[in-house]
Amino acid sequence: MRLFFFALLLLSLKSFAQKDSVEISIHIIPKMDSDFRKEEIRIWVVKGYEKYLDTFVKYPFKIKLPPPTQRDSLDVIIQSFLDIGVHDLKKEFFELVYVDNFKADEEKIINFPEDCIYNINFKNRICPVCFKSDKAIPVIYGLPIMDRDGHSPFDDFENYLWGCDILSCGPTWHCKRDNIEF
Ligand SMILES: [Zn+2]
Repeated sequence: MRLFFFALLLLSLKSFAQKDSVEISIHIIPKMDSDFRKEEIRIWVVKGYEKYLDTFVKYPFKIKLPPPTQRDSLDVIIQSFLDIGVHDLKKEFFELVYVDNFKADEEKIINFPEDCIYNINFKNRICPVCFKSDKAIPVIYGLPIMDRDGHSPFDDFENYLWGCDILSCGPTWHCKRDNIEF
């Protein structure tokens, strides 16, 4: 009888260890590796409608998840901000990834941010049409929050209000001369 319990205990320890090994690894796209090396990245995990994990990680960007079951699916939101070089403004980078079919000892790799020209060239203020930067103003996403006098921090400098659409690949600059975003 004692042997039976011992065997049962070993069996349950083994299955617990296997389920504990899901790791999420954020691979920065090579063209932006130097931009993110010293930054913190927020990893926000949602299971169903419940918050599962919300944490900030430094390089190398990896987290171990509490053991999900095989049937769980997770929404993983990766978010980070980088200086664009004017008015202390930061550009938001994010990626939403749906992860499911967990297997034991598996590493889930998420590439971040989206490999697109707007993300890779975010610091480049030179307009692709006129090849000048003197009329390039920053694109602002979201709704500016106003104080009691109806003043928002974005009133202090020229900017282009994009609206509330948050994009994983969105422009950083607007050229007033050519009326384009880049
Ligand atoms: Zn231009």
